[in-house]
Amino acid sequence: MAGFDPDDARERLVQRLRNTRVDDGAVLDAMRTVPRHEFVPEQRRRDAYDDRPLPIGQDQTISAPRMVGMMAELLNLEPGDRVLEIGTGRGYHAAVTAELVGPDHVHSVEYHDELAELARATLAETGYGDVSVRAGDGREGWPDHAPYDRAYLTCAAPEFPEAVVEQVRPGGLLLAPIGSHSQTLVRARRRADGSLDREDHGAVRFVPLQ
Ligand code: SAH
Repeated sequence: MAGFDPDDARERLVQRLRNTRVDDGAVLDAMRTVPRHEFVPEQRRRDAYDDRPLPIGQDQTISAPRMVGMMAELLNLEPGDRVLEIGTGRGYHAAVTAELVGPDHVHSVEYHDELAELARATLAETGYGDVSVRAGDGREGWPDHAPYDRAYLTCAAPEFPEAVVEQVRPGGLLLAPIGSHSQTLVRARRRADGSLDREDHGAVRFVPLQ
């Protein structure tokens, strides 16, 4: 690919995000490290460092980099946090999360077998092989690794799935696009009694939960 230097393009993207959308230095460093072009279809590599969503097959789209950065920032991720992700896609967002908490603390569920398999392969090739990926319905969460400190959805749901809420520890955070046609990014802290203390973070647009 003549004229395309992925490292250069990635650094320019990070600088743009830093001046506009993302403040957290650890999040910016994570985005500086993860090679997004490896996580998009071959013919899309040149577009990997434009700040926009990209198609990844199976009628699915991965979020724009700024959304990944904003979500990582809202989740306040610390090294060692146990994280549940619903909607692995090709694995880019999981890799950014892995940079922040450690790969073996990231557990991700993907509905489409083919995407789960591609994500596993790419994560392994890029050094994030300890991220665990399960093919299945994210509405059930992933009880084996619960309780989680943090859980987030990368697809829009009418409401936080009950099983996912149950798998987050009291005091832990959830983040998801909530709604069907019009969606709001909602961050919620789980209270001891299982109820949620919610905060809206603006209008967003994600693919729907299957
Ligand atoms: N995390 C990705 C974004 C993936 S797009 C990133 O790197 O930005 C959203 C993903 O959610 C799609 O791959 C889609 O297949 C998946 N998805 C939709 N419904 C789901 C469900 N019920 N359970 C698990 N994954 C689901």
